[in-house]
Amino acid sequence: MKYLDEFQNPELARRLLGEIRATVTRPWALMEVCGGQTHTIIRHGIDQLLPEEVELIHGPGCPVCVTPLAVIDQALEIAARPEVIFCSFGDMLRVPGTDRDLFRVRGEGGDVRVVYSPLDALKIAQQNPHREVVFFGIGFETTAPPNAMTVYQARKLGIGNFSMLVSHVRVPPAIEAIMTSSSCRVQGFLAAGHVCSVMGTDEYPALADRFRVPIVVTGFEPLDILEGIRRTVRQLERGEHTVDNAYPRAVRPDGNPAARAMLADVFEVTDRSWRGIGTIPASGWRLSDRYRDHDAEHRFSVGGITTREPAACRSGEVLQGLIKPHECEAFGTTCTPRTPLGATMVSSEGACAAYYLYRRLGSTPIPLEATPVV
Ligand code: SF4
Repeated sequence: MKYLDEFQNPELARRLLGEIRATVTRPWALMEVCGGQTHTIIRHGIDQLLPEEVELIHGPGCPVCVTPLAVIDQALEIAARPEVIFCSFGDMLRVPGTDRDLFRVRGEGGDVRVVYSPLDALKIAQQNPHREVVFFGIGFETTAPPNAMTVYQARKLGIGNFSMLVSHVRVPPAIEAIMTSSSCRVQGFLAAGHVCSVMGTDEYPALADRFRVPIVVTGFEPLDILEGIRRTVRQLERGEHTVDNAYPRAVRPDGNPAARAMLADVFEVTDRSWRGIGTIPASGWRLSDRYRDHDAEHRFSVGGITTREPAACRSGEVLQGLIKPHECEAFGTTCTPRTPLGATMVSSEGACAAYYLYRRLGSTPIPLEATPVV
């Protein structure tokens, strides 16, 4: 298959579903790690088309959702300063902090700008040499390389008024945390293909071995997801637990060596707090000491902020796959995309947003023959 729409072919989807049905003999719980995969699954009703033995658990792979409240509050405090131009991707603006969000800060006079690339923020810094320009650098192994490159460029070009508020997280320690949790039900993983396109697959065999869990690297189109599920179920039924690359058109075993080298130069591994989950050892990156001048947390001294999570929000349980979004009492009532209580309802990759946008709750599953897969 050469073109994207071919990965949504209904005939091939039915064939894959048939193979999954023919393979499965007992219940299995699989976790799709990435929020992008969650959106594909819910949007196309893949979870409703699967045999009832196969349950999909939605994982913590939404970068906006897992950014801790303390870092959101740091961003809000920095963005409110008169000397600062605060740059961020758009979906962070409505994420609630303890008392407000970035939209509110902008309404109150803060210079908050939406950018489409960290390099846009660097350009703003060049154009505004008398202002402090801060970029909000969040996300997984996918967004970390361009952010690292931007800091590298800032240092190389001597752009001293540019800094980054960094809250990057790494997937493998999160898988370890999920598997060691006493409430874990996950028996197989659909690993996020874009993460592996950067990092390769070398980090996964040790996890698959240690937890005796299949890890199948999976893409983002409906057929990618179905193929990932098919391969995971096949391994589980055979009693296997290996790393399998079902996304070879984008993922090589060694990933992207140039991107990895940039990460190693600019960042160092650190413990990170995940919103709703808590601190996971070695699960993130921070700027290394060589780039400390470009570290906004250091430059603006915003440590020690007291945070307050909204009591009604159960996004921590959603992010760990312990409940489905619609099982939260606030879902669709006091919490909607316009009035979000948690980041999982705001983010374009959030599980609560996926259910709100695509799932017709209360409807019974539609028979396969009558269901458009695309
Ligand atoms: S529906 Fe809203 S309140 Fe409930 S878990 Fe999701 S984001 Fe939080």
